[in-house]
Amino acid sequence: MNSNQWNQIFQHTPMGMLVLSLEGQVVHCNPSATAFWGEQICCQPELDLPAIMEISLSELINRFKDNDEPLIRTQQLKILNRLPKAANPSAWVRFTLSPIRDDAGLLTEILVSQQDISDEIYSRQVIENTAQGVSAISGQGFFESLVTHLARIFDAKYAFIGLLNDPDSAHREIKTLALSANGTIADNFSYALKDTPCDNVYGQDTCAICEGVQELYPDDILLQEMQIEGYIGAPIFDPQGNPLGIMVVLDTKPLERIEQVTSILEIFAARAGAEIQRLAAEEQIHRMAYEDYLTHLPNRASLYQELQSLKNSAKAGEPEPHSALFMIDLDHFKTINDALGHDVGDEIIRKAGERLRQKLPEEVFISRIGGDEFVVLQTNKQAGTDTREVELLAEKILYLLSQPFQIGDRIINIGASIGVVLFPQTNLADNYSELDLMRYADIALYQAKSAGRERCVIYSPEHQQEVNDRLEIERGLRDALQHDQLKIFMQPQVNPQGKALGAEVLLRWEHPEKGMIPPFRFIPIAEETGLILRIGNWVLDKTLEMLSNWQQNDSPSPAVVSVNVSAWQFSQPDFVHQTRSLCAKWQISPMRIVLEVTETALLRDITETRMKLEALRQEGFRISLDDFGTGYSSLAYLRDLPLDELKIDKSFIDEVQPGSRQPLVESMIAIGKHMKMDVVAEGVETADQAEQLEQMGCVIYQGYHFARPMPAEELPLWIENQTSLA
Ligand code: C2E
Ligand code: MG
Ligand code: MG
Repeated sequence: MNSNQWNQIFQHTPMGMLVLSLEGQVVHCNPSATAFWGEQICCQPELDLPAIMEISLSELINRFKDNDEPLIRTQQLKILNRLPKAANPSAWVRFTLSPIRDDAGLLTEILVSQQDISDEIYSRQVIENTAQGVSAISGQGFFESLVTHLARIFDAKYAFIGLLNDPDSAHREIKTLALSANGTIADNFSYALKDTPCDNVYGQDTCAICEGVQELYPDDILLQEMQIEGYIGAPIFDPQGNPLGIMVVLDTKPLERIEQVTSILEIFAARAGAEIQRLAAEEQIHRMAYEDYLTHLPNRASLYQELQSLKNSAKAGEPEPHSALFMIDLDHFKTINDALGHDVGDEIIRKAGERLRQKLPEEVFISRIGGDEFVVLQTNKQAGTDTREVELLAEKILYLLSQPFQIGDRIINIGASIGVVLFPQTNLADNYSELDLMRYADIALYQAKSAGRERCVIYSPEHQQEVNDRLEIERGLRDALQHDQLKIFMQPQVNPQGKALGAEVLLRWEHPEKGMIPPFRFIPIAEETGLILRIGNWVLDKTLEMLSNWQQNDSPSPAVVSVNVSAWQFSQPDFVHQTRSLCAKWQISPMRIVLEVTETALLRDITETRMKLEALRQEGFRISLDDFGTGYSSLAYLRDLPLDELKIDKSFIDEVQPGSRQPLVESMIAIGKHMKMDVVAEGVETADQAEQLEQMGCVIYQGYHFARPMPAEELPLWIENQTSLA
């Protein structure tokens, strides 16, 4: 190539070329260099290239004295204060310097070739920023990092992520989730979506307005106030494509390189969408793990966490606050649930939870730990043994839950019992766990229930003894059957003249050490443990054996005997078959047997109940509804069921006092008559009661006034004596 050709290459190459004299002046330059630095740079002192490259001239000369290897320097011009006017101060330039020598190899000049690498550097920064912006941080930190990097990439004053408050609301508003202003994270704010460029972005498409956005949206006051020029916004969708919000970059100067970075904004928006959804899912999972689905109150796990944090505060050196744990159990909930169905049961639980949360003080922790059990925590209770505060809260809870619940067109009265444990407390074991606390409260609750429900008991260690007794009963009951400790008693049912019409079979447990244990103490435990099935069968078998003996010996005996049937027994699929087989075994006519059932037993499954009752009556058994008036039945149910007898519960008979009219008892008797049923008054204790009941039209009585329950063997003698008296 000749020098002309070389000259043309020098002239036309897009790379800026300059020749630097050893005095540091530009002595030649090509058009690309002039275009970059301005016309008059040749031989002018304005362009101090060594200073720009931050290297001294002598160093340069020294370096190239006997070294041909090029020197590369990369600089952003803006860091320098002395620049030719034409030069773009934000440009990044890569300078490559090499020596020019004469024939003898002496350094004569230095060749500087320069390349504007601003775009390259910018892209690299964007990639780095993007990578950092969408890095592994999560949660709020993630959104803040995102807007910070976004502002940096766009070199813009503001960047934010905003979510729509409520898409269906007439007044749609964006609330920022993270906002970067002037390089720092600023407080979030909200603004109305209407008349803003964001309105075209939300749920739609990316919108870029490099400059003049205020003129395009004259009604957007915020844009005016912030003096915004450039706007670029991208919609945020969840991964399923549902709109969530927007991501926006704003600047007071026109925005540059919009095409290059729009796709980055979109990448950020997609990541933000995924993160928002992930957080929502996380929140939901947390809610599912720590919230009760029915009442939306904290659940058991949440309660344990709360108890744990009380303990931790003690470990952290602060005194552990005096607290009370209230274990609340709805009375007879199981009965209602069984009788009226789970939907009604669920609704009661929901309403009970709602009532507690609405009416108890806000600082009280309320949780539902399962079934019909709620736990309330009262902390920072005044120290000491004063329990007044606890009693006040308990009273309030009892009152709230004793108010009737309206479910559909039913009014249901429930009530509750409460067991409380106070902690930290000297008479609790030293190192009690959360489970221990629950156990203590449970023991107190059990006491409250045994003492007649609708009350609160505060745990004290003696209660443990009573729990042990109960456990003993449970264990002993298994032996009782095998060791012949159960006994059949009978109580006559009489007419107004005191003549025996029948007798009710009542079970007794003669404990070798504890003596006679009344049924109310062991029947519920037998029901809980399932032992009631074997016990019930035993009672019927023994009763029939007794009748068979009397029949064979021609002993005076009641025409009919009533046997109590537990709801559990009645619900057995083979109940009818079993009862019939036992009668056949002892050759006793079913017509001599009355089966006493309660509403709980009957209302479990009304269709099946009706079929069972009909089958039993077909065999000749008579059916009596025990404890009438204490249940929840609607009369409509009863009317549909084939029943023979109503037994008015003792609690109503108790109200029959001299001189007081008893409209309720009267109407019960009337209902019975109207439905063609016999009516038995239970628990008649005085002559006066008997007389009044007779006036009201009742003709069958059972009660201490006539006879107490007696060992079945003694009944024939009692009947004989009555007959001889008559
Ligand atoms: P229940 O079937 O309502 O029996 C009537 C209860 O009232 C009996 O109590 C009886 O002793 C008592 N009573 C009768 N007249 C009077 C009176 O004038 N004054 C007072 N204060 N009480 C009177 P008991 O024998 O303690 O039985 C209690 C409950 O235990 C029974 O109530 C019944 O629900 C259950 N039960 C008793 N035996 C059996 C049984 O063999 N099987 C089942 N499943 N339950 C039984
Ligand atoms: Mg009974
Ligand atoms: Mg009864």
